[in-house]
Amino acid sequence: MTLRSRLLLAQAPLVMALLFLGATAVITLERVGRAGQQVLADNYRSVLATQRITEQLERMDSAALFIIAGERERGLTQQAAQRQPLETELGVQQGNITEPGEAQATRRLRTAWTRYREAFDVFLQARDPDAARTRYFESLAPAFQEAKAAAASVLALNQDAMVRKNDRLHQQSEQVNTLMMLAVVVALAFGLLFTTSLVQRALRPVSVLSQAVRRLGQGDVEARAVVEGQDEIAGLARDFNTMAERLAQYRKSSLGELLQAQAVSQAAIDSLPDPVLVLGAEGGLLNVNAAAEAVLRLRLDEGGDALGRVEPEVRAVLERVRAHVVGGRGAYQPRGYEEAVRVESSPEGVRWLLPRGSPVHGETGDVVGATLILQDVTRLRRFDELKNDLVATVAHEVRTPLTSLRMAIHLVTEGVVGPVTEKQADLLFAAREDCERLQGIVDDLLDLSRIQSGQLQLDVREVGTEALVEQALAAQRTLAEDRGVRLSQSLSPDVETVRVDPDRLQLVLGNLVGNGVKHTPQGGEVSVHVSREGAHVRFEVRDTGEGIPAQEQARIFERFYRAPGAPAGGAGLGLSIARDIVQAHGGELGVVSTPGQGSTFWFTLPQPEQG
Ligand code: ADP
Repeated sequence: MTLRSRLLLAQAPLVMALLFLGATAVITLERVGRAGQQVLADNYRSVLATQRITEQLERMDSAALFIIAGERERGLTQQAAQRQPLETELGVQQGNITEPGEAQATRRLRTAWTRYREAFDVFLQARDPDAARTRYFESLAPAFQEAKAAAASVLALNQDAMVRKNDRLHQQSEQVNTLMMLAVVVALAFGLLFTTSLVQRALRPVSVLSQAVRRLGQGDVEARAVVEGQDEIAGLARDFNTMAERLAQYRKSSLGELLQAQAVSQAAIDSLPDPVLVLGAEGGLLNVNAAAEAVLRLRLDEGGDALGRVEPEVRAVLERVRAHVVGGRGAYQPRGYEEAVRVESSPEGVRWLLPRGSPVHGETGDVVGATLILQDVTRLRRFDELKNDLVATVAHEVRTPLTSLRMAIHLVTEGVVGPVTEKQADLLFAAREDCERLQGIVDDLLDLSRIQSGQLQLDVREVGTEALVEQALAAQRTLAEDRGVRLSQSLSPDVETVRVDPDRLQLVLGNLVGNGVKHTPQGGEVSVHVSREGAHVRFEVRDTGEGIPAQEQARIFERFYRAPGAPAGGAGLGLSIARDIVQAHGGELGVVSTPGQGSTFWFTLPQPEQG
């Protein structure tokens, strides 16, 4: 059955109740009406007849009075005119006996009438008025009274019956009213009850379906709507179940693919020998690979603050790299091995790990996390240490014989051990120059190995800025004069003193000024500028030389790097050592240069403002 027919059928009890009420009302009204009619039929006719009989009797009586009064003709006509109609009315009354005792009363009326009629006939026989009056009063008047009384009793009988029946009718109609009200209430109550229950039954499948839809909406793909039948709702439920089935299959398959994809990517990061961690934007640990679990003793399934169990130094590095990446500054690349962090807890003993970081982007393109790789540079660091040791040893071993060599050449050149020819002197000068250059390189190497082995102990003191700059320039003055390059300086008055290690800073300034002189053609200028920049003091060494191409600018600070075509003599260490010294002071060193227009090497030193 269709839903529409069911809903229509559900209205049937109400319709039936209405029909029942209507039928009851019609039947009851008809019964009441019939009772009223019965009253009319039963008693009204008798009342009418007896009233007429009374009237006719009275007219006969007045006819008798006419006769007594001497109007015999008129009286005769009048009494004759009443007799037949009276007989007729009496006949009607005799044929309409309805009440108990009425038959008897009617019989009495008939007898009284007969007696009155006979008395009237006798009365008419008296010719003179006196005799007539005597007869009237003796026999006719009593017979008239008797007949009238008999008619009145029949009338009263019927009138009483009418009153009684009217009362009964009234009572009945009140009862009918009450009954009808009761019937209305009962019929409506039953009708509503059945209609509601039928509507509910018809709509129950809808609520089953809506419950299933709600469960599916909450993510329960196993939700199904069990609705029997062939109606529209059952059809809808079947369609819904098919949809839910497809959804469940889709979820199963896409979940399977997702799990497989996750397993593949987990296997990929697990296969990396270096620890890999994926951190959320807030710092929570999202994923780790096997190496991270082994080296950092991290476990993802432990929950809570997993990173809190990592050594504090490692944690600080991880936090720094994460902040860099999540802060939107792109991937994090370490500047060098010195950023490697020491981890002792790993199974193979001490390890050095170099952090790198790259952003994880969300659907909208914003950074939602960071992937951190801790590259194991333990072996590389060992090689570096070995190289440093080797450099230090070689430099140290070379330094002493080099000093004796220089002294020997010096003594010979000065003619201490005998006269020297001009040719010999030329050769000795060249040899001495090479010795000095060699000594410079050896000194650079020794400085470098000292810095790298962490032995760069700064002896920080308050020194006059002008004296510092002047000394650095003085050391380069001979070279500058030889090359025809002017040296100058300009110091800002608010930087009278600086707190630095004067010997080391001398080295930095000397290096930069020396480089400037070496790379500036004759007639050029190298100038030193010192100024305050907030909580820093900024040193600049400007030259008017050949400048440095952009692609070289980052590389010239690498150790042993020398630009192609650079003048012979250096080892490519000066700038690297200068940067190390500046960084040891807490500052930074860099270059700004336009090829053909000269270069400006600058460095800053943190120096709180005085006063
Ligand atoms: P070196 O002692 O061999 O000069 P540095 O580390 O001091 O080594 O310099 C590295 C390279 O930087 C040099 O080979 C040179 O090409 C370049 N360089 C340094 N200073 C300047 C400058 N003022 N102008 C142009 N090039 C420079």
